[in-house]
Amino acid sequence: MIQQLLFMVVLGMVIAYVFRHLQATTEEGFHDAADIDTPSAILTGNTAWSTAFGEDNPLDLPWIASWSPADQAARRGQNCAVLYSRAGPEGTTIVTTSRSCEAGMAHTRPGDRIYLPDSIPLALQEQTIRHELVHIYQRRNPEAWAQFYRRQWSFILYREPPATMPASILGARRNNPDLWIPGTQYGGTWPCWKGRYWPAAVYTDPKRPQLRDAITVWWDDVRREILTEPPAEWIAFFGTPTQNEHPHELAAVMLTAEDTSTEAGRRLMNWWATKGSLLKQDPVAERFIPPS
Ligand SMILES: [Zn+2]
Repeated sequence: MIQQLLFMVVLGMVIAYVFRHLQATTEEGFHDAADIDTPSAILTGNTAWSTAFGEDNPLDLPWIASWSPADQAARRGQNCAVLYSRAGPEGTTIVTTSRSCEAGMAHTRPGDRIYLPDSIPLALQEQTIRHELVHIYQRRNPEAWAQFYRRQWSFILYREPPATMPASILGARRNNPDLWIPGTQYGGTWPCWKGRYWPAAVYTDPKRPQLRDAITVWWDDVRREILTEPPAEWIAFFGTPTQNEHPHELAAVMLTAEDTSTEAGRRLMNWWATKGSLLKQDPVAERFIPPS
């Protein structure tokens, strides 16, 4: 009986070895030096880098691939591995990670995921989730938000910065996962106000970038200068919200606070009162409702 069992174990090992060897040979056979230049090879490189930091969801690869050298340096040593996850409000998944992920800042990711580092106190979680839910709505219907920004806030979202943008801003910009909406022409992370002012969050010390150490600057494309304060007419319209780098952040702050103290806030709350219930829904999910 024991002899039979031993024989089966040895046979199993031999089969596994032969199979693995065959598989490796086949893979080797199809590898080609030209692969190095293909986007998939670049993504594979990022996969190796990302899995070391607990970033093993394929949905996150475009976000990770978008990091500049400064973004990579700012995130060195972080760990975004999923500690546990639970169902969140409105079809979302709340993912708990370590406090090192995005320097402990809550954020959203594709697939209706809200990332909550475990350093966020329980008392602040509800408020934080409400803010992040706005970013989920923005991900679900980016076209509608882009249209609102253009018509009501004079903001146009671009995928690329203007050619005149100084290298000092480009090299120091802090990438924000909540603004990263891939797969749509409306996922522009470069906003422009009134065809002239380009706000951007930049690391205060680009040589030693820290995620929590960033300020918003405005590139004035007409006067070709960098402003460290928003233009006066911008403040008259938007007030002084805590996060001002992008309309998605302005909207999340104002909606969460139900802020109608500014013209921008009043327009947003009016728009949300009429369109909000529709815009909370996921248009992709709707398409998959089977016909009755
Ligand atoms: Zn936000």
